[in-house]
Amino acid sequence: MRKETIALHAGYEKDEQKTMAVPLYMTTAYAFDSAEHAANLFALKELGNIYTRIGNPTTDVFEKRFAALEGGEAALATASGMSAITYSVLNLCEAGDNIVAANQLYGGTVTLFTHTLKRLGIEARMFDVHEPERIEELIDEKTKLIFFESITNPSIDVPDFEKIVQIANRHGILTIVDNTVATPMLCNPIEHGVDVVVHSTSKYTTGQGLALGGIIVEAKSARKKIEGNDRYAHFNEPDPSYHGLIYTDTPFPPFILRARLSLLRDMGAAPSPFNSWLFIQGLEHLSLRMRQHSQSALEIAKWLQKHPKVKKVNYPLLEGDKNYQNARKYLKGGASGLLSFEVESFDEAKRIADSVQIFSRVVNIGDSKSIITHPASTTHQQLSHEELLAAGVSEGLIRLSIGLEAVEDLIADLQRAIG
Ligand code: PLP
Repeated sequence: MRKETIALHAGYEKDEQKTMAVPLYMTTAYAFDSAEHAANLFALKELGNIYTRIGNPTTDVFEKRFAALEGGEAALATASGMSAITYSVLNLCEAGDNIVAANQLYGGTVTLFTHTLKRLGIEARMFDVHEPERIEELIDEKTKLIFFESITNPSIDVPDFEKIVQIANRHGILTIVDNTVATPMLCNPIEHGVDVVVHSTSKYTTGQGLALGGIIVEAKSARKKIEGNDRYAHFNEPDPSYHGLIYTDTPFPPFILRARLSLLRDMGAAPSPFNSWLFIQGLEHLSLRMRQHSQSALEIAKWLQKHPKVKKVNYPLLEGDKNYQNARKYLKGGASGLLSFEVESFDEAKRIADSVQIFSRVVNIGDSKSIITHPASTTHQQLSHEELLAAGVSEGLIRLSIGLEAVEDLIADLQRAIG
């Protein structure tokens, strides 16, 4: 089946009410038929609902649908993108371990990796996505994963997935890709050998800036890498916190099983069933929206390129962009709605951000409403001139998240503001 069809049907069997819309099960807990039924559910002898912190029927449809869209085996929804990223890392690492991660990442992920994980005794070793060959130098026997974004936010780069995956495979290390900006409609990292995909569903999945959420998807390849691998001994040995369960001994995808039964159980960043229901609505038209976001962004990027006051435009599918070859290879049907451009100075960029009327000044992406951000005066305000340059953020850089308004109106708004 094609993704447009999967997004509408996968994971939902109509119940006796025959509702066309997926029912919203707003409940915290579920009744057991008997003590034996309860015991069987806890022992995984039977599958069923126990408590919404570890599973809910509405969330289950969302998870199955998203896993199918990514070409994965199973998925776990969480309360936010950050909790999905945190759990995907903590599922593999303990104090003393290290991770290898791209420099070009969402700022919140950088802070998680370089500050919060450090306090837990997990070291983040960073690489430049334009120099994947240097990853090899960073790997040792304590390296548990390699992490990167498929379209990076805010630098808008597209890494060479296959080069990174080749290195990871040589060492039997799992790769995790944040596919938030591309969405499963434009990119499926699993097709290129990636083992785990994470998303913030707060962006394009909801599409209208309605709800916070995240999701983790496991590929078939994850089990192959985990099974019998000393690097991941905790998946292959009895878990004392779950009456000696060995995750790789069950028929269930082990990465998601452990994330659910151990991390979600103990740390509890479970999604609200209502948010899962909203994401199901969002998925229904995600393919149409991503096509339009991508088409409008490319048109605006080309228009900006010709503007005399614009020094540089970054959009992966612009011919001549340093990411063009990777974008052609790894993205299908568009490069999503994020683009950035540079004007002469900090003051000029700030003036433009202040002058637009349709674009909103918001630090978010992936909304149906267009967004403008001036990183140097907002998200990256604390960085020095040198730090800004290292992060690929010049003082005159403006980032746009192109929404679904008529592209003519967006261009007119930018023309008015830039002058
Ligand atoms: N990943 C990317 C690429 C993001 O842009 C963001 C947020 O902007 C996140 C993860 C974090 O997601 P959330 O805000 O849902 O926690």
